[in-house]
Order: sequence, then structure tokens, then C-alpha cells
Amino acid sequence: MDLFEYQGKQFFADYGLPVSPGEIAFTTDEAVAAAERLGTPVMVKAQVHTGGRGKAGGVKFAATIDDVREHAAAILGLDIKGHVVGRVWIEKASDIAEEYYASFTLDRSAKKYLGMLSVEGGVEIETVAEENPDAIAKIWIDPVDGLGESECRDWVGQAGLPEVAVEGTIGILLKLYTAYVDGDADLVEVNPLILTPEGQMHVLDAKVTLDGNSIFRHQDYAVFDETQNRDERETAAHAIGLQYVGLDGSVGVIANGAGLAMSTVDVISQVGGAAANFLDIGGGADVDTMAGALEVINNDPAVCSIFINIFGGITRGEVVASGIIEALERVIIKSPIVIRLDGTNAEEGRRLLEPHFSDSLQMAPTMLEAAERTVALAAARQKGAGQ
Ligand code: GDP
Ligand code: MG
Repeated sequence: MDLFEYQGKQFFADYGLPVSPGEIAFTTDEAVAAAERLGTPVMVKAQVHTGGRGKAGGVKFAATIDDVREHAAAILGLDIKGHVVGRVWIEKASDIAEEYYASFTLDRSAKKYLGMLSVEGGVEIETVAEENPDAIAKIWIDPVDGLGESECRDWVGQAGLPEVAVEGTIGILLKLYTAYVDGDADLVEVNPLILTPEGQMHVLDAKVTLDGNSIFRHQDYAVFDETQNRDERETAAHAIGLQYVGLDGSVGVIANGAGLAMSTVDVISQVGGAAANFLDIGGGADVDTMAGALEVINNDPAVCSIFINIFGGITRGEVVASGIIEALERVIIKSPIVIRLDGTNAEEGRRLLEPHFSDSLQMAPTMLEAAERTVALAAARQKGAGQ
């Protein structure tokens, strides 16, 4: 779950991190009213699920109420990397002496948490990593041991912050680490973490990704869940309990088992095509699951052909075959289907399907051949549609 900056700041505030007071506004009038309550100067900040808002004109300083009106009007409706701004965060402006960068995330290959701290804040960390990698001090933290104060001090020492910033930064990093772990976050990033002219450390931006699977532990995350940008196809699929991930291609995929579904996506791209989705109907899928899966794929306007890839283990071939046949009676399919059916009782399954074969329902002997046929079918239909 990706949070908006203002939600990230609310999340941070719960862990005692210093953030600025502010209000969310959906209209220019609301922005003005918020600024009047907060007192100028304020920042007017686009709330979108993407970074680099400053560069795109989505973060503006407003010295007066007139400035607030002008900036809010300009930012609301702005398109930032494909995200249209629907709300702005009006925040009391801060004075900045220096901008730093701090984050915690998971380093999967090291099986540890990774903390990053840099004196080069305010710019994207990827740019720093490319142009001046030595400017990033990294720490790998064993989740069992956690982050102790002395290790944190050593880490801050490596980053080369000025003396005045050291104690405040240690305090902030320890709180940020607690927020990261206790809040079940996948990423917490503060960029910039600022040093004010008065020598205070302050959180000026918040990028937070929470683990959606932890909602059962955090009742209050429901409000974050509501503001997610969701792929409509994913919403429909998840509503009926399917493991579905939307992709950009034109070949719809149905497979039993996550591993097989992933391999199917790979094989499609190996033969020059692109999958429209990942969809795992699981082991022992019944008619309802198959019909639901076909319906979700069928409703995707990008789909031009469908690859059903079944390898029977516990799932028996004839059960899947009857599932497909019944599902086809319930759903009017718009795209041709190629089935690859192997494994337990595959022969019986094929026999059941045989009377239903046509141009729009075929069977391929191997996974590779099924991939080649679906990709060719999708290409032919796209070419046809383009003429
Ligand atoms: P991003 O571009 O999406 O990362 O948005 P940020 O929230 O990081 O804002 C971009 C830049 O705007 C920051 O790096 C700061 O330089 C500047 N900025 C943000 N808030 C303030 C503020 O309160 N006062 C001042 N002077 N500058 C700010
Ligand atoms: Mg930022």
C-alpha cells in the first residue's frame, strides 16, 4: 500500500517523528481556508502516488493567501507522470539550512533491513547512487537484533553529517526504524530530512509503503487502503478470490499454480508476445473459479487471445476440462482460447474437450506450442483491428 505524503506524515507522527502541521484540500477554496487557519507562509503540495513532484511543478512555496490560491489552482488537476492531482496538502513552510536523505527498506538478497542515509538529500536517491555512491552511508540490520543506539551512531558518523545535526538525526533514525518495523512497512523514506537554521531536524517529505497483508494488525490502515490506485481488473479478480496481477500485454493467462502462471508469462514473452495478466486459479479449481477467471480475462479490453495452462497434480485433468466446458456455457468469450492440459488424467480431460474444439477453442500439445499459437492469434487480431 503506497501512502500519500500527508498519510505518510500522519503515520510518522504516530511514532513521534517531527512533521509540520498541515491540512488536506480538494479544492482551491479549501486550500485557501486551510492556509488561513495555518497562517502563511505555507507549502502547497500535490498529493500523488509518485515522487519528483517538486520538479514537475507540484510543490510550491506560498508567501501570501493570493499565492496559495494561484498555486492550488495550478496544481489541482496537474498531471504528474500520469497521476492527476486530486488533492493538495497545505503545510506550514519550513526554513531549510540543509537537506538530507534517510530510508529503511528490505534487502531481500541480504535477508536484512537496509538503512540508507545521505548528506545529499532533496534529489532522487537513484541519482545520488549513480553519480556519487560514496555519499550514501548504508547499514544492514538483522531484524532479530534490531537497530541499537551505538550502531546507529556509527552509521550517522559514516554519513558525515555536520556535528549540529548528529544527535537529532540519531533520534529521528531510531524512531523511523520503529515506525518501519512496528508499522509493518516495506519502505519508509524521508527526502528531504532537513536541518533548520535553528539546528533542529525535521521531516519534510514522506514516502511510505505499508505491507497490505498486515491490515489485520492495524485497523487504522483501512483509510490508507481506500485511497490506493487500483487496477480495475485486479479489484474485480480479488473480489472473487483470484490471485491476479494485471500486466500490459495482449495474451490472457489462466494457470493452476503460481509457479506455472509465472512460467506461462515467461514463455509468452520468450516467443515474442506479452501477457495481459498473471492469474493463478490454484489447485483443485472448480467450475466457479474457472468461470470467474474467464470472466475477468474476458472483460479486459486488451486481451486478444487466452492461454489456459493446466498441469494436473492433485487437480485432475477431467475436472478442469468440465470446469472449462461449463464456464464456456456461462461466459461468452470474445477471444480465441488455446489450452495446454497435462498431468493427472490429462487424456480424460482432452477427450471431454474434444467435441467443443473449434477455431476459437483449440488444444496444443506443449506449453511452448500453446504460447506460440496464442501469441500468433493475438498478433493477427491486433493487426486486423489496426486495419
Ligand atoms: P518531491 O519533489 O516529490 O520529493 O517533494 P518534496 O516534498 O521532497 O519537495 C521538493 C522540494 O521542495 C524539497 O526538496 C524542498 O527543497 C522543497 N520544499 C518542500 N517543503 C518545503 C518547505 O517547507 N520550505 C522550503 N523552503 N522548501 C520546501
Ligand atoms: Mg521528496
